[in-house]
Amino acid sequence: MSVSVVLFTCDLRLHDHPPLRAALRAADSVVPLFVYDRDVERAGFAAANRRAFLADCLTALDAGLRDRGGRLVVRDGDVVEEVCAVVAEADATEVHVSADVSAYAQRRERRLRRALESRGCALHVHDDVAGALAPGAVVPDAKDHFAVFTPYFRRWSAERQRDVIAAPRSVRVPNGVRSGEVTPRGKVPGVSPGLTAGGEDEGRRLLTAWRRGGLAAYEDRHDDLAGDATSRLSPHLHFGTLSPVEVVARSRDAGGPGAEAFVRQVAWRDFNRQVLAARPDASHDDYRPRHDRWRSQRSAREEVEAWKDGRTGYPVVDAAMRQLRHEGWMHNRGRLLTASFLAKTLYVDWRVGARHFLDLLVDGDMANNQLNWQWVAGTGTDTRPNRVLNPVAQGRRYDPEGAYVRRWVPELAEVEGRSVHEPWKLKGAARAACGDYPEPLIDLADGLARFRRARGKE
Ligand SMILES: Cc1cc2nc3c(=O)[nH]c(=O)nc-3n(C[C@H](O)[C@H](O)[C@H](O)COP(=O)(O)OP(=O)(O)OC[C@H]3O[C@@H](n4cnc5c(N)ncnc54)[C@H](O)[C@@H]3O)c2cc1C
Repeated sequence: MSVSVVLFTCDLRLHDHPPLRAALRAADSVVPLFVYDRDVERAGFAAANRRAFLADCLTALDAGLRDRGGRLVVRDGDVVEEVCAVVAEADATEVHVSADVSAYAQRRERRLRRALESRGCALHVHDDVAGALAPGAVVPDAKDHFAVFTPYFRRWSAERQRDVIAAPRSVRVPNGVRSGEVTPRGKVPGVSPGLTAGGEDEGRRLLTAWRRGGLAAYEDRHDDLAGDATSRLSPHLHFGTLSPVEVVARSRDAGGPGAEAFVRQVAWRDFNRQVLAARPDASHDDYRPRHDRWRSQRSAREEVEAWKDGRTGYPVVDAAMRQLRHEGWMHNRGRLLTASFLAKTLYVDWRVGARHFLDLLVDGDMANNQLNWQWVAGTGTDTRPNRVLNPVAQGRRYDPEGAYVRRWVPELAEVEGRSVHEPWKLKGAARAACGDYPEPLIDLADGLARFRRARGKE
């Protein structure tokens, strides 16, 4: 009886799963395998919120496989060693896995290929799983990736997407392959109290609700901080409980300006993935160095701590930072303005902020997080690298009634209307009602001047 192995990584679903389909077609039975990667843990990348969401995803994946007559095999350790051990136990002749873009994932894939080939086992890497379009599927003339989004999006939009693949009806798993346990969500310490639920069913439920509900108004409402009118699909796209190909296909089916704007946003994800695939060092090195002499976590310690704690004295910044801590997720507009505040107004190294986001974000993702941070810091692909977002203007514009601030900053809950964005201007009893809400950490004009000096723009 022939056996193949499917190594699940960033694709924790049964619907629209090319490696699973290929493995099922190639062999009589399949080992669906997930390995808790020790190296990811050692690197400090297995943040509590993602571990908890992952627990939901693996539990759901196992249940989905059991419904189809199979089960999930779970191991813990070095991915290459564990895959080789499973291949030996099951006497498998091929392994299927999704391609991934980070430097670490690329190295792991090369190690896996060498190890399997030396055992006479073939490795099939599928590059049409984790993105709506594979990195490298469209490239500019004589270059290996697009460095600017708009021309990338033009080409991306013109490309035909592959068809969505149905979930398999049955999955036959061979006997005799040892499996560990999924660490249940309840056993993961340090999880944000408002963390959302994971799992494929949950992702599909959200997508269906989003198509019926928020999608049509996305173009008009995606920047409305208090309205919370974005899809919140990002953790499902990060863990692959939803297929980006399917998300794009179902959104396009719905049609209309909301769907178009939404699909454009999903294309940003592919854009970042193709940058990182071609320039894996962009997860830590400046993509476009501007010769910054950033302040560090150490030299700006108190300001960095105030930023992390949501106590900068700029209400919309603090609201967003508190949302991040409470939910392990933050609205895109919040991400933009908090990142600009750290990297530009406080002139702290973007890597300090990116690390903090990765410690908390349930959708924390090497390509999207690091390259969005670089975009905001002006070291990435932004064509206007020296723009600085003013947190008061951002608050007034994207939270015009102040409802988002009042939701997340209880000290300001009694302040009415848009004056909540400038509590330092309140007088007497109104100011006293704000309790120990801090004074602004920095004068915005001073921060702007320092940044402009640093970039030689005086
Ligand atoms: C500093 C900073 C850090 C970020 N870190 C991450 C991260 O670690 N992981 C992550 O998935 N996104 C990240 N983003 C992008 C974006 O903020 C989130 O994808 C989005 O807020 C998720 O919410 P949503 O699913 O409701 O998005 P929607 O607005 O509903 O968008 C739909 C999907 O499109 C994709 N998308 C939307 N905006 C972007 C974008 N700017 N770049 C890339 N993809 C996008 C996401 O997959 C998202 O789920 C970051 C943005 C900034 C400015």
